[in-house]
Amino acid sequence: MNHSKADVVVIGAGPGGLGVALDLRRNAPQLRIVVIEKKDIGGDNVSSGAVASKSLLHLAKKYHGGDRSLASDKILAAVRAKVDEFQAELDELELQRLGIDVMKGDPVFVGRRKIIINDEQIKFKYAVIASGSKPKTLPVRGLDNDQVITVKEFFNLKKVPKKLLIVGAGRTGVELGVAVSMLGGHVTIINEHEVLLPYLNKEVRLRLEDSLRGLGIKIYHDARLSRVHDGLAHVEHAGSASKCGFDKLMFAVGREPNYPDELKKAHVKVRNEGIPTNLKHQTSNRHVFAIGDVASLSHFTHIANSDARDVVEFIIDRRSRFIHKPKPLVPALLFTDPEVATVGLSYKEATQAYRKRSVRKIVMPYWNNHRAKIEENGDGILTVVVKRNSGRILGAQLAGAHAAELLTPFCIAMQKGLSLPELGSVLLPYPTYSELIYDATDKFFN
Ligand SMILES: Cc1cc2nc3c(=O)[nH]c(=O)nc-3n(C[C@H](O)[C@H](O)[C@H](O)COP(=O)(O)OP(=O)(O)OC[C@H]3O[C@@H](n4cnc5c(N)ncnc54)[C@H](O)[C@@H]3O)c2cc1C
Repeated sequence: MNHSKADVVVIGAGPGGLGVALDLRRNAPQLRIVVIEKKDIGGDNVSSGAVASKSLLHLAKKYHGGDRSLASDKILAAVRAKVDEFQAELDELELQRLGIDVMKGDPVFVGRRKIIINDEQIKFKYAVIASGSKPKTLPVRGLDNDQVITVKEFFNLKKVPKKLLIVGAGRTGVELGVAVSMLGGHVTIINEHEVLLPYLNKEVRLRLEDSLRGLGIKIYHDARLSRVHDGLAHVEHAGSASKCGFDKLMFAVGREPNYPDELKKAHVKVRNEGIPTNLKHQTSNRHVFAIGDVASLSHFTHIANSDARDVVEFIIDRRSRFIHKPKPLVPALLFTDPEVATVGLSYKEATQAYRKRSVRKIVMPYWNNHRAKIEENGDGILTVVVKRNSGRILGAQLAGAHAAELLTPFCIAMQKGLSLPELGSVLLPYPTYSELIYDATDKFFN
């Protein structure tokens, strides 16, 4: 067994782990940084997460819009080519060229500050666990394993399934359902909730449901898959029962953390939903940090990136400002057509958090916006939830063209404590979708 020392050992080379390694390399070139990855550099984020799914949706939207330069059965191969492109940009060699040691394999903690990888024992000053998460599955009576796929396996299929049954109507289930149906597949989604994505405001949800209906996606609400028999899925939903045929069944029922082996030996405590940490992302062992999906209930690349920046800041300058750091708002997107974008509280959440009469929801359809009219995108909708008296923004949601970009000013306003009238006092160029902010402000004053 070889013995060595490292300043920082990073476990997992997804956006969280790579963020730490690259940022540390830039800011503290004297440190020895070791990245340990058991599979692909880039993490699930590239191979089956944000990059793969957005690349699929981009190609599916083009295909659905009439662009047949790529046949539908070539699209998953094209997505894999895009994934390869991302992975080639920052591979093991490139990391090593930057002075970061990369080790492939499954590490095992053997003490508070010791880890073994392959036949090397490394004593570290700090370790960062950024090992991400994996898709959950559910036991279903009668289900043949050959028919079941997880989101991860979906991206390894040769062809898009003709009949896809998705269990779970969260972001992943809805996005992949949209992509498959745009590529000509029949999609059925089993939603355990009474409504689709309960955190959406009603107007935004209705707009999204319209588009899913237009694509022919069938959704069972308040539903569960009870069993599979003779190739048919038996679905119980809102007091009724239906049978549904499928080629593939995909579980999109959430994710669970990937824990490195023998965390106990490092005195790192875990819970079912992830590794608990303090504001500085330290685990129960203060030399070990945990970031990204393995430590958070919000599974987003931007959370992993933000956690990584925090950890680097702490390692470089231990006196940093963590205690006073405000909790970041977590914006979220659905790359459906139209896009759906959300930040902060929904109207329902706001009325639960504050007195109902003190909260107001402003609903602004796109149809009067000149840019939306010119580009024939008048069917979008913006909703802003504000405090009735001050106009403080509590949340914003959109379903429509450029929703993701239009969310940005609301994220900035909310993070900086600007009210809707303050946001609406900024001079904006004409004609832009951003001018919806003026309309919402006018409505606030009326
Ligand atoms: C279909 C889908 C779509 C998504 N779309 C979006 C989106 O649009 N926007 C967004 O912000 N987020 C999106 N996400 C979520 C996003 O992909 C994750 O939040 C992000 O990848 C988390 O980054 P991470 O670094 O924590 O983990 P990961 O990206 O999962 O990387 C973890 C890495 O650790 C490695 N690893 C695991 N265990 C070990 C071990 N014991 N030893 C060594 N290495 C290990 C894994 O192999 C992996 O490479 C999506 C996810 C899915 C599934």
